[in-house]
Amino acid sequence: MKKLFKCSVCNYIHEGADAPDTCPKCGVPKDKFVELSSEEAQKVYDSERTNDIHMEMITLAERIVKLAQEGIGINLDPPCVSAFEKAKNEVYVIKQRSKAELEGHVKKGKW
Ligand SMILES: [Zn+2]
Repeated sequence: MKKLFKCSVCNYIHEGADAPDTCPKCGVPKDKFVELSSEEAQKVYDSERTNDIHMEMITLAERIVKLAQEGIGINLDPPCVSAFEKAKNEVYVIKQRSKAELEGHVKKGKW
């Protein structure tokens, strides 16, 4: 299993057998990197996957908003327009919830 090393200055995370010679983000030398425990590493991988899922949900929500908007524009009949308007509002909540969760993860270093 690959190891994870975290830059203690900027929090850049490197994956590999050893820490990089210099941090690709802030340029500090290798000795500023700390190896993460396997538990910490697992948390990093779980966070990555979870954040990817949130981002995909945000993308899908944006797609649904566009589709609903198109349906509203066609304006076939009032119940149809109402269904699209409701979908648009509901998916907006899904999108904002995932965005808020992502922001929370970033602040807690789960990135
Ligand atoms: Zn760094």
